Amino acid sequence: MGGRALTAVTVYCGSRRGVPESYLELAAEVGGEIARRGWELVWGGGRTSMMGAVAEAARKGGARTTGVIPHALVDREWADEDADDLLRVETMRDRKALMEAHGDAFLALPGGIGTAEELFEVWTARVLAMHAKPVVLLDVDGHYAGLLTWLAELRDRGFVSQFALDLLVVTDDVGAALDACAG
Ligand code: AMP
Repeated sequence: MGGRALTAVTVYCGSRRGVPESYLELAAEVGGEIARRGWELVWGGGRTSMMGAVAEAARKGGARTTGVIPHALVDREWADEDADDLLRVETMRDRKALMEAHGDAFLALPGGIGTAEELFEVWTARVLAMHAKPVVLLDVDGHYAGLLTWLAELRDRGFVSQFALDLLVVTDDVGAALDACAG
C-alpha cells in the first residue's frame, strides 16, 4: 500500500541460514499478516533466512518495508534492495536505534543471540519507561521456553519484577501477537 501505514511493526528474527523450514513459514505468515492489516514492516534489511521470509511476504502482500542494515552486513545478510527504504547505518547500535525509532511496536520471532539482544534492549527500555510501545514475543515450538523458565526463576529470586515480566507479551499465536502490537 502507498502512503502512511497505520502501524509500523519492528520485527526481530533469526538471520542464520539452515533454521527449520517451519520457522521460515512462520516468518512469512507474520509478514503476510502485517500486510493484511495494512501495516508497515521495519526489519533488519536482510534477505537471509527468516529476515528474508518476513520481508518478502510482507511486500508480496503490499506492505511497505523499511530495512536497517549496517554497512558491514550488507553482503553477509544480503541487503534487500527491494525494500521501500533501506537505511544503511554504521554500527549495530545505530541499527537498533533506528529500528526502535521507526517501529510503533516490537515483535520478536524465534531467533538467536542477535534477536535476543534486540528484544532485551527494547524490553528493558519499556520497563524503564523510556518508551511506551508494545513488546511482544512470538514463542512457537517452545523456542523460548528455557528463557521464560529462567526469567520466572529470576523473578522468584527477586532479580526481575513481575511488572517487568508483565510488560513482555508472550504468545504462540500470530494473530494474537499482532493484536498485541496494536496495543
Ligand atoms: P540472530 O538472532 O543471531 O540470527 O540475529 C538476528 C539479527 O540480529 C541479525 O540481523 C543480526 O545481524 C542482528 N544482530 C546481532 N547482534 C546485533 C546487535 N548487537 N545489534 C543489532 N543487531 C544485531
